[in-house]
Amino acid sequence: MKVLLTLGTKNPGKLDEYREMSKDFPWLGFRLAPAQFAPEETGSTYIENAGIKAREAANLSGLPSFADDSGIEVEALEGRPGLYSARYSEGSDALGRRKLLKEMEPFKTGREARFVCAIVLFMPGEDKPLFQTEEYWNGRISTEEKGEGGFGFDPIFLPEGKDVTAAQISSKEKNLLSHRGQAWRQTLKFLEKNFINQ
Ligand code: IMP
Repeated sequence: MKVLLTLGTKNPGKLDEYREMSKDFPWLGFRLAPAQFAPEETGSTYIENAGIKAREAANLSGLPSFADDSGIEVEALEGRPGLYSARYSEGSDALGRRKLLKEMEPFKTGREARFVCAIVLFMPGEDKPLFQTEEYWNGRISTEEKGEGGFGFDPIFLPEGKDVTAAQISSKEKNLLSHRGQAWRQTLKFLEKNFINQ
């Protein structure tokens, strides 16, 4: 049996990441949300925003669909940028990192931070999600950028128990440890139990 899921995003890079994380699950196939996909992320939680995207993707594609929503929460900044991480800097990822390092300059303590990722699964025509999960990756904000891998805030995020940044570890290791990897493994467990081994 093959399970075909729509991913509620217009970003093909995100689709590649989920394909990479699902290599050991040959029964799973993905497609990108249709061209009309344009949800308004008006939720006040990661779960709400992921749900808005997954529901619209399901209703437009007529297939079971999922979406994620993620961000970084910094202790000294009382959880900012959090839900607004993608909009923290109007420019590039690099500008966002520089802005965060600058904002963190006065803080010798309180540099603890965590990445958050919510994943929500919706069936077409339903008004409640079939599954939802939220997972975390703890660490702290470094004082300088290091590493070429990953994206977003990875070069300034020191994962707990490591003395290198998230941009200095392999994508395989990042997927094992990360908020998104953990949330996706929970989702895979649910899909396997409810779509495959019923
Ligand atoms: P969204 O989940 O597509 O709304 O984007 C969330 C934003 O949080 C991204 O644009 C990044 O700035 C940041 N972010 C989320 N996950 C990660 C990660 O794994 N590494 C680095 N930055 C991340």
